Amino acid sequence: MRLTLIILLSFSQLNAQTKKCLLVLVDGIPADVLENTKTPNFDAMAQKGAYARAYVGGEKGGISESPTISAVGYNSMLTGTWANKHNVWGNAIKDPNYHFPSLFKVARDTRPELKLGIFSTWEDNRTKLLGEGMELTNFLRLDYVFDGYEKDTFSFPHDKQGEYIKNIDKLVVAKAKETIQKYGPDLSWVYLEFTDDMGHKFGDSPQMTAAVEKMDKQIGQLWKAVKKREKEFNEDWLVIVTTDHGRDTTSGKNHGGQSDRERTTWIVCNKSHTNERFKTGLAIVDIFPSVLKFLELNVSTEILNQIDGEEFLN
Ligand SMILES: [Zn+2]
Repeated sequence: MRLTLIILLSFSQLNAQTKKCLLVLVDGIPADVLENTKTPNFDAMAQKGAYARAYVGGEKGGISESPTISAVGYNSMLTGTWANKHNVWGNAIKDPNYHFPSLFKVARDTRPELKLGIFSTWEDNRTKLLGEGMELTNFLRLDYVFDGYEKDTFSFPHDKQGEYIKNIDKLVVAKAKETIQKYGPDLSWVYLEFTDDMGHKFGDSPQMTAAVEKMDKQIGQLWKAVKKREKEFNEDWLVIVTTDHGRDTTSGKNHGGQSDRERTTWIVCNKSHTNERFKTGLAIVDIFPSVLKFLELNVSTEILNQIDGEEFLN
């Protein structure tokens, strides 16, 4: 009897899959643009998992109303709170309130052994939003860092067409793919910018559609790396892909306001066990508590109480 128990225990231990999470934020893609563009990789993930429209911008007209601006949205994803709490109101990221910790800080504090990664076309995401190395973030350090390429004007000369951002996104995806396959970071964030640049330059246009199609291929590459990892290392990955805002109705070039199209975003994840929240009321701030649950990060009641979002996974 005892022997059986031991055998059963070791069997279940052997079978215990390590849980990992990959967050991908692709900048400024309105839900209608995504839905009307041919995105086979995206569709495959949605079919296996789930897709739904979501929102950014907090409670319209309420105290949590937040501008539909990039860094504001990223930080709502990272902290599970709106701008009235995280205090990032624009891309200058003047005075973030680190009292509302990012997922990365929470992961580092609750399970210090976890490996954290960032792959990003904008360095401020790490240095300002995550606040890497700052006293206020308890000197948070990430383990795998690939960013800051936009400041390397020798390798990526800044051209007016924004081709350099396309090239940086490409490199960021390559680094993410390679690192996922080799090291499988426990929590990582991939941030890609090219779609937003095309939106600002051309609005609703063939150029924007082409950028979304390119993004879809990149999602395909990342997901392939994740699936390989799951197969070879007995891991269970949660992949969440989202955007930070929509765009205006007139031209599709601008964002920042509170129109429905600017506030409407979307979330796709590779898991099908979503709850009611995923179908109604889904918001960018729901990513934080969903990842906490999936990675089994046991945070304090204080942190739990200050979150504006709700879990969308069962
Ligand atoms: Zn943006």
